[in-house]
Amino acid sequence: MRDEYVDVGVLRFSRWIFNCYVIEDGGAGQPVVVDVGITSNGVASAEHFAGRRLDDPLTVLATHAHSDHVSGLMALADRTAVQLHLPVKDRDYFAGEKPRTPTMKVAARIMPVIRDARFSFRALSEFLSGGRHAGFGSSSPFQMPLQAASYLTDGDPVPGAPDWVIIHTPGHTDDSTSFYNEASRTLFSGDAVLTVKGRPWFTPEFVDETLMARTEDKLRKLRVDHLFPGHGHPVHGQDVLSDAIPHLEKP
Ligand SMILES: [Zn+2]
Repeated sequence: MRDEYVDVGVLRFSRWIFNCYVIEDGGAGQPVVVDVGITSNGVASAEHFAGRRLDDPLTVLATHAHSDHVSGLMALADRTAVQLHLPVKDRDYFAGEKPRTPTMKVAARIMPVIRDARFSFRALSEFLSGGRHAGFGSSSPFQMPLQAASYLTDGDPVPGAPDWVIIHTPGHTDDSTSFYNEASRTLFSGDAVLTVKGRPWFTPEFVDETLMARTEDKLRKLRVDHLFPGHGHPVHGQDVLSDAIPHLEKP
């Protein structure tokens, strides 16, 4: 499915609970991909860019290296020259550190988000096999088919998108990262904030409760009128995080 959010210049390619976003112009006149998603998301974004002449390789960001956020990478990179930018913590994973990842039992806490989306067998099968392509998960170690062109560090501008700033938001994973545009009050939260039935939900699926609590405090200080979550439908309104469900509560 393809959705367009014209007022903030964002496209979403989604299948079941998996989202891939495109910022059409991050302030440098070029598009930026936020989370390529699973293979069918990668194919959809590749089709979007097919025939479009880009001045430079396409900037692709990951909010974290879970397979369902990066396994579509090769589907996109096969068709378009890509420059991949990964959270700075992923440097440790390239060096051999084993990523912490939520257990299946903890992951099951997000069932309300899953039930809120239209199921797709294809997406499920791509999700289950995603670890073979890229990223990490509960049953797959870290791997990445491309090197990182740069690492995303807290407080820095987003590569290729100077209107956006990088915010470290660990807790769901140690590499969880968000991207914020203060002028348009727009946040790409990765899996730090999900949405369910039109409400943001600080994820109950975390590897570290202390870090997650800190991330919730940090993000609640931001004014967000447009929230694009890693899973769930985007939420728009005035100061949407003021209505967010805390990470220790259920919807
Ligand atoms: Zn995740």
